[in-house]
Amino acid sequence: MSVEPTGATPTGDAPSADCGENCVEALERLEAYLDGELPQTRVADLADHLRACYPCADRVSFEEQLRNLVRRGCVDHAPTDLVDRVRARLQTELPHLQEQAPLG
Ligand SMILES: [Zn+2]
Repeated sequence: MSVEPTGATPTGDAPSADCGENCVEALERLEAYLDGELPQTRVADLADHLRACYPCADRVSFEEQLRNLVRRGCVDHAPTDLVDRVRARLQTELPHLQEQAPLG
């Protein structure tokens, strides 16, 4: 088989490394999803994206853990700069999201 040219129509089979706009949408929904406020149909869309996009799936996993800590009240005992540092690290790992989906 020959190598597919870049810019070809996505087949849907292979995970895409540059899902750009889909990532922005997914992250916009992430907040509602974690709050339990995302409609079930949107949850399915988000789940589909997370299966194909490791950076977003990794981010969801992290945010879930962070929120669990907040719920338990552990953050009261954690320095806020720790949270800031982890968030900064996330943005470093996902530079393509930084410009399109600014936090705050
Ligand atoms: Zn993504």
